[in-house]
Amino acid sequence: MLLDRDGTLVEDVPYNGDPEKVRPLPGVRAGLDRLRAAGLRLGVVSNQSGLARGFFTDAQMRAVQARVEALLGPFDTWRVCPHEDADGCGCRKPLPGLVHAAAADVGTVAGRCVVVGDIGRDVAAALAAGAAGVLVPTPVTRPEEVAAAPWVAADFPAAVAEILRRQTAVVPATDPWPGRRGGSGSRVGTVLVVRSDSAGDVLVTGPAIRAVAHTADRVVLLCGPRGRAAANLLPGVDEVITHALPWIDPTPDPVDAADMHALTARLAALDVDEALIFTSFHQSPLPLALLLRMAGVARIAAISDDYPGSLLDIRHRVPTGVPEPERALSLAAAAGHGLPPHDQPTLRLRGDAVPSPPAQLGPPGYVVLHPGSSVPSRACPPEVAVRIARALVDAGHRVVVTGTPDERDLTAAVAGSGALDLGGRTGLGELAGVVAHAGAVVVGNTGPAHLAAAFGVPVVSLFAPTVPFGQWGPYRVPTVRLGDATAPCRDTRAATCPVPGHPCLADIDPADVVAALRLLGVHQDAAPTGTTGADAAGAAVTATGGSAR
Ligand SMILES: [Zn+2]
Repeated sequence: MLLDRDGTLVEDVPYNGDPEKVRPLPGVRAGLDRLRAAGLRLGVVSNQSGLARGFFTDAQMRAVQARVEALLGPFDTWRVCPHEDADGCGCRKPLPGLVHAAAADVGTVAGRCVVVGDIGRDVAAALAAGAAGVLVPTPVTRPEEVAAAPWVAADFPAAVAEILRRQTAVVPATDPWPGRRGGSGSRVGTVLVVRSDSAGDVLVTGPAIRAVAHTADRVVLLCGPRGRAAANLLPGVDEVITHALPWIDPTPDPVDAADMHALTARLAALDVDEALIFTSFHQSPLPLALLLRMAGVARIAAISDDYPGSLLDIRHRVPTGVPEPERALSLAAAAGHGLPPHDQPTLRLRGDAVPSPPAQLGPPGYVVLHPGSSVPSRACPPEVAVRIARALVDAGHRVVVTGTPDERDLTAAVAGSGALDLGGRTGLGELAGVVAHAGAVVVGNTGPAHLAAAFGVPVVSLFAPTVPFGQWGPYRVPTVRLGDATAPCRDTRAATCPVPGHPCLADIDPADVVAALRLLGVHQDAAPTGTTGADAAGAAVTATGGSAR
């Protein structure tokens, strides 16, 4: 847990060098003590440009810190940036330097940290480091910073409560199934896991599927046709079956009785011991639960806000805003499945399913620009993508433009003469190989963002706010969010932008994309520095295939 100081722990007194002026904010001491009692290590990450400006001395700053600890209890580390913006340091938030340093101080990495702060810079530094960021706004926090934050808490005690709730939610239940004999911790035979929409949805369910694989002898994944390629990339899956579910598909075929009977018979033939139905928050698991019951499945778990009657044995509930990978992992936990201790809940792919990129791409460190999206509202306007590509090339980056066969015209236009056009030349596995060796990926809220997360490759996320960023943003990977989070399409889930001119993404300044790469430590024609480079990405690929546990 890394905490901003001024405006988060204590009242913000500008350039304070006087211990007498330290005033803890309400509920902070009790909240910190809850975190300490839960075994979490605490650090402070604080911009103190007053040092560079000569408004107070180092000794005065240390006196203030001592006063903070006297009032709020001890912290395991303090990391302070003494610079101002013009100094060009690597530590002043929103740069991620303080977060990386404080994480290292307490023996961990940024991806396992939560950063709490009161302004956009705190959250941006958290995301740029690959940490989770919680914004606790004050009356002076700018509304657009609140809108852009992945996670907003009303006050410090609320932030603490939700942090601890999310931590507890992924701990496996000890006696999950009502009426089941055998008790806790026992292995199960075959488990059916279901994720029936697009590639990105399947990818973010990966940690939950690995948790199931840890305690099951055999994992069968039921996915839809659009998720099939992603399903083949996931560790822990022994068998994939594909069937479109008309209550999930955005452009569904009519329900065909014979087809549903055939699916039910196929599910019955699997002879599974239990089934976990993973869904997005606006999808219902209940139609499939009915078919599974008709197929004789005795134990079914799903997240359902709708009353399930006897269709579910475990009806799990999750508040909105939880990242999709954690949301899915919490369902697995409710059914008694947890990741093994050595396996972090990050996205991960099977190493044997990801080929090396084409030789023409040259050495690692290029920037992948993926301008399209299967959902039109999540792609930036083509002319914006063209200008982004040009700006990246002009800034000295090697740019690779990727897209599906349907997007060939788009990728050719975006690549122009300065970038390499791979449009239509990569299936999802090949695209993963290209992404794995990238220095960064510039992409909307669509599948390749999650591929990048799986390799620890930094993401410049051109994020349309039609769905919550906190749920769908790149997970636990260094990220900069661009786009207007306050646009009127916010939270509409619209597949096609309902606002003329697509303002949420049309107004992105290509110079901001170039600046975002600098913030992420991605330099021209070189792999990123720090902890998230291409070598680390390569190491994140699992060495073994789907049968590995
Ligand atoms: Zn600094």
